[in-house]
Amino acid sequence: MNADLPGPVLSNDAEQVTSDLHRHFNYTLGRFNTDEQQGYMLTALSLTVRDRLMERWRLTREAEIQDKPKRVFYLSLEFLLGRSLHNAILNLDVEESVRQALADFGCRLEDIESEERDAGLGNGGLGRLAACFMDSCATLNLPVRGYGIRYEYGMFHQSLCEGRQVEQPDHWLVEGNPWEIERLGRTRRIKFYGRTEFLHNAKGKIFARWVDTQDVLAIPYDMPIPGYNNDVVNTLRLWKAAATDEFNLQEFNEGDYSDAVAQKNLAEQITMVLYPNDTSESGKELRLRQQYFLASASLQDVISDWVKRNGEDFSEFANYHCFQLNDTHPTLAVAELMRILVDEYILDWDEAWEITTKTMAYTNHTLLPEALEKWSVRLVGELLPRLLDIIYEINARFMAVVAHRWPGDVDRQRRMSIIEEGHEPNVRMAYLAIAGSFSVNGVAALHSQLLTSGLFKDFYELWPEKFNNKTNGVTPRRWLSHCNPRLGNLVSDAIGDSWVTNFSDIKNIGEYAGDASFREKWFEVKQDNKKALAQLVKDKCNVDFDTSFMFDVQVKRIHEYKRQLMNLLHVIHLYDRIIRGEEDSVHPRCVLLGGKAAPGYALAKLIIKLTSNVAQVINSDKKVSERLKLVFLPNYRVSAMEVICPGTDLSEQISTAGKEASGTGNMKFMMNGALTIGTYDGANIEILDAVGEDHFFLFGLKEEEIADYRARNDPSTIISNDTDLNRVMNLLECGHFSLFEPGIFDPIIHSIRNAYDPWMVAADFRAYVQAQNKAADYYQNKQEWIKSSILNTAASGHFSSDRTISEYAKDIWGIKKR
Ligand SMILES: *Cc1c(COP(=O)(O)O)cnc(C)c1O
Repeated sequence: MNADLPGPVLSNDAEQVTSDLHRHFNYTLGRFNTDEQQGYMLTALSLTVRDRLMERWRLTREAEIQDKPKRVFYLSLEFLLGRSLHNAILNLDVEESVRQALADFGCRLEDIESEERDAGLGNGGLGRLAACFMDSCATLNLPVRGYGIRYEYGMFHQSLCEGRQVEQPDHWLVEGNPWEIERLGRTRRIKFYGRTEFLHNAKGKIFARWVDTQDVLAIPYDMPIPGYNNDVVNTLRLWKAAATDEFNLQEFNEGDYSDAVAQKNLAEQITMVLYPNDTSESGKELRLRQQYFLASASLQDVISDWVKRNGEDFSEFANYHCFQLNDTHPTLAVAELMRILVDEYILDWDEAWEITTKTMAYTNHTLLPEALEKWSVRLVGELLPRLLDIIYEINARFMAVVAHRWPGDVDRQRRMSIIEEGHEPNVRMAYLAIAGSFSVNGVAALHSQLLTSGLFKDFYELWPEKFNNKTNGVTPRRWLSHCNPRLGNLVSDAIGDSWVTNFSDIKNIGEYAGDASFREKWFEVKQDNKKALAQLVKDKCNVDFDTSFMFDVQVKRIHEYKRQLMNLLHVIHLYDRIIRGEEDSVHPRCVLLGGKAAPGYALAKLIIKLTSNVAQVINSDKKVSERLKLVFLPNYRVSAMEVICPGTDLSEQISTAGKEASGTGNMKFMMNGALTIGTYDGANIEILDAVGEDHFFLFGLKEEEIADYRARNDPSTIISNDTDLNRVMNLLECGHFSLFEPGIFDPIIHSIRNAYDPWMVAADFRAYVQAQNKAADYYQNKQEWIKSSILNTAASGHFSSDRTISEYAKDIWGIKKR
């Protein structure tokens, strides 16, 4: 930070904070009665804390303008931030003063904080990763800005009605958002539709103009991203769409005033709602508009800054900028940067392409074919005609490179083409991203390896130097300090608090695994956290979780590849063991499932219904519920995970091997001392590697075994040869869990019995039950379990997003601490 600039001036002492809180409550919000505290106290406190961020935000920005470092722009359609207040209080180190100030009003910090709505601008792991990355960049003092969309409606609210998912709109902004600052002065204009016109300039050079467009305004809203105790505040800039004020004059004068005004809605629709599909692409035009809207607004923003300071000389641009694309969603940025440079600043194609391919970097998040984005050429041509021209030009030149490298290999050209030919030709967004980027990374070691040996093999052979791995991580501030203060304090009392910013130091807690009195304290913390989780379950599901039982938890988006279904089969198997009289062999356990299903994903929704029905049967049977409980916790989100992961004993990470790119839920649980039952998949492999197989319940087919096994997979034979599985299937098939709705679970039964079941549920069932039995037995040995719990936390050092971001900064971005 620059020493000439004045540091923060607002004091964090209790007196000042108290006076600020009173001022905001009374004067900013105009509230004088304590019975108006509901809602307003949260706002008053947020503003009090925000004041302290404001001056640090300005200082960070001013230092950056002076120092002119290379900067990174993280482009993502999703930022799953969750709540902001506690994070800001923690990072500003102002908690004690805040508590005292609230006591003046007779309020408790926890109660106020729990009123804050989650910023749910994301689906799941990908969006939460972006949020963890923002936190790490600020904490590491890196010049990184996030760019995203300010959805009016975030991820839907999930409730259950007769055990089925019901979606309700999440109008998270209705009560106002104290964490955003509108910046009208930086509004951008985004073009849609129209056509390309070619012209000559004075020097006789041909250039293109995109004309007759229908424009939409992009208005930025900035959110402060505070670093941990370092006076840094970075920026997350979210764009909102607005209509231009140029009404269609013709319509206006013809008296169609209302129609002209109604046109505004069309523009504003662009940022109305987050698409709630985690792993499949909807192919909807509105989604494509969102993607271009983000890419264009963000690039215009960055380039106008450059031109203001450096004029129209772009020779140094690539040395000062890098754009990280969070999956293919913002990939139109490749074509948009070309358009801006070639059409608006009249650079030669080659020069513009050099700049583009030196500044763009792409992160792949999935191997699932249904999640790979393709946009129909027809749609792109209609909505973004000039971009389609550019994409064709990029592809023509790229095909020449492929032909030069592999002369005569027409099949390879067809395979690698950015344009997929066929009845309905498509733009393959991942291929555009690879061709336009200097770096392509996967998000865990196995995933990156599968990219180069499978999905992107041709590209790897052409450009091996582009490919690299960056194993995901999560921020230890939110996912340990903040969500589990009891454990955080216990750790700090033992080994100091350097782990908060230097998370590899967490390994030192491993030395205490052999200390019986420390283990007892660890156990007590876990019990307190289980009590808090049990309270959440009581409030939301009205089921009593006994904290002496093992808490077995699977929370994540509902998807067949994540195999919540296999988890349920195991629960039904435990139920069956109890009712067939083998209850003595079943150790007590409380099972919690949670997660949202995409509204159009029928089978995922049916898995929720099955969970509810099985839970109903189990929890209402007195004999069974003495040792087994099951709940489906509705509306899983970031703030729920903050209670769930500290209170979990056993973390379920049971995806079909080769399908979960990384997983990050697995890391949050590990940090908080849960043991994992998991497959050899994604970052589970690295977790297993770090903690050792004695402290991890590994099971199931490996990725390389699956391809081979698939051909001979025969679920019905597996079922008839496995008494336990056969009994479970019989319970399902005889309607034991659907007495009043016969046949409703048929699609689930068929998916398990399907010989082509891609998720291999029946094939892995036996190994899963064995691993579960091992886990249950192990849990009976309290001392050994606690030891393993401590060793899991101790081995989680690698899974801090600070480590991940340091690798991005060094290997991809080439940036240093400010
Ligand atoms: C961490 C997190 C995820 C990702 O979980 P996975 O188990 O990696 O799929 C999804 N949603 C929320 C709310 C999270 O906090």
